Amino acid sequence: MSTTLIPVLPEGASWNRPESFDDYDWCICAQMAPDPCALIYTVEGREVLRQNADSSCPLCGGSGVDPQDPSLYAPHVEWNEDNAEVLFNLLGIADRLCGQQPIGRMRMHIQKARAALISRGPSLERPNYQEMTVHGDAIVPRSISRGLDVEGMRERLDSLERLLGESVSLGCREISWS
Ligand SMILES: [Zn+2]
Repeated sequence: MSTTLIPVLPEGASWNRPESFDDYDWCICAQMAPDPCALIYTVEGREVLRQNADSSCPLCGGSGVDPQDPSLYAPHVEWNEDNAEVLFNLLGIADRLCGQQPIGRMRMHIQKARAALISRGPSLERPNYQEMTVHGDAIVPRSISRGLDVEGMRERLDSLERLLGESVSLGCREISWS
């Protein structure tokens, strides 16, 4: 499970929906359409999707096009579970699963995190991790999790800081995560 950080919209505002067809997905109810992945990109293809869709589908309303979660159009950063654990620890925020706070306060957390990165960064690094499993006579990797080094942590703090700047310019005052 990953953690997504996303600005809290002022009341009454909404995220802009994308104009590009590329940002939409086809609805599962239209799966019998020939090559739905290709159809999504053209007006004609969308008509074929509609013909193959379930007219009573609660997800797409029979259009065959999944409108998706509007929050997907919001500026955000997303951290995988392992990275979120390291980064929230670095930020000094206890509850990484879900929370909300003023952008000014998050900026202070980032400053402290940068200081901690300088003083004890290497000790916070998470190494690459491989889970092994037995396959026949051999022991082989089952899953590989990429680690997080100081440079990676710094990059993620940078992108969080950019997100905060963008959030403020959109009129947001708080940042939430879940
Ligand atoms: Zn549908």
